Amino acid sequence: MTCLKPEAAAPSETGPNGADFNPFAVMQPRRPDAIPQDFRNGGRVKAADVAPAGVYLPNNNKMTPAMRSPDYVQMSTAAAITLGIMPGMLYRCACTRCLNLLLTYPEGCRANCAYCGLARHREAERDYADRNFIRVDWPAVPMAEIVEKVAADGEDTPFHRMCISMITHPRSDDDTVTVLKQWTDRIDPATVPVSILSNPTTMQRVDVETLKGLGADIFTVALDAATPEIFDRTRGKGVDSPHSWKKYWDILMDARDIFGPQKFGAHIIVGMGETEADVLHLVQQLVDLGGHSHMFCFFPEKGSLMDHLPATPRDQWRRVQLARYLIDYCDVRVERMAFDGEGRVTDFGLPQGELDAIVDAGIAFRTSGCPGKFQEDISACDRPYGDSPPSNIASYPFQPAGADVRRIRHQLDMEKPGEAYEPGEEFDDPDDGPDDDAPQDRAAAAAGAP
Ligand code: SF4
Repeated sequence: MTCLKPEAAAPSETGPNGADFNPFAVMQPRRPDAIPQDFRNGGRVKAADVAPAGVYLPNNNKMTPAMRSPDYVQMSTAAAITLGIMPGMLYRCACTRCLNLLLTYPEGCRANCAYCGLARHREAERDYADRNFIRVDWPAVPMAEIVEKVAADGEDTPFHRMCISMITHPRSDDDTVTVLKQWTDRIDPATVPVSILSNPTTMQRVDVETLKGLGADIFTVALDAATPEIFDRTRGKGVDSPHSWKKYWDILMDARDIFGPQKFGAHIIVGMGETEADVLHLVQQLVDLGGHSHMFCFFPEKGSLMDHLPATPRDQWRRVQLARYLIDYCDVRVERMAFDGEGRVTDFGLPQGELDAIVDAGIAFRTSGCPGKFQEDISACDRPYGDSPPSNIASYPFQPAGADVRRIRHQLDMEKPGEAYEPGEEFDDPDDGPDDDAPQDRAAAAAGAP
């Protein structure tokens, strides 16, 4: 993979039939197809039994080797570029600040989540290690090689955080422990703290305790769906997947007890049929529990059971991004906000001048996730273009400024007089605005915010 550039066809700014949100009735996943017996459980990879030989780049090799965690893990394209494992550049980003690792097995993830490129129903179509996930390839790399490279950089590492993403697999709990130990044996968690993106379906409370005891810093639960109905439809019985809303909440509550305030959180995907009010009440619930929300804009992942559905309209996404930031970092409560009959935000609960300062600061529109070393409200996990193409950015992996903020204001219907956004103007100068090596530029602008 080379430099990520703007794509010619940007997704629409609006949703179905020109609506400015994705309604529940529209966001119905398709049913998974039956999988031929030979392809189930990684059958093709196991039958070929090709021995792994170092780094595996998806789609560049003839046959996926039989790689397994904990010896192998996959990493995001952005992490592989940053680590020098793959060639390439990231559009308007110097690097990623989070080393996102993903457990890997020939059998792959045994769940079937409708929006996910890693889901089990893809067995008939692509080997696990070749599947796209949050819009990019995930090369597989020996864990020992990763540790060696990061340890060699010492304090100079570009990474502010490492994250182990568990998947639904019988080995996932034990292998997460092994990968974490392998990391902390060589790398001081004070230099690169570790987050766990958990898989509650296979976990018990004692597993959460074990990970905390081994030095994990933050524990997150990928609720993904904002309501029990959408959870069941997209990752439970609706798609022959094993997850349950209750089990996810049980582990989230365990994480709250064990990891403590500000050290646990939940992932939420916006635009899968919930209302803005639904999401923001959930965000408030998480804040009241002492945790954080990490938001993703729904994007129809190629090959997933929702790849025929519309991406979240930018106006819906921007309203939720802004309101979530106010609740998470500015002490604005959801009860102070107002919603219309469709659950859309009509009032953010702040005087316009204060709201303007926060919008102009731009941090609210950056990728959300576990913090790095810049400041609490800037995520290390920047996931470049994981929820949108660069031509119509949903979560900014760099500091939005200038034309970016004018575009955001246009999407929020908050354009300032005399500062209208001209479509495409941010592409005239791709170097416009500071990159995330210099967040203090924008932090200064945010200092006036409540
Ligand atoms: S459990 Fe996670 S990795 Fe597996 S299908 Fe669901 S979202 Fe994808």
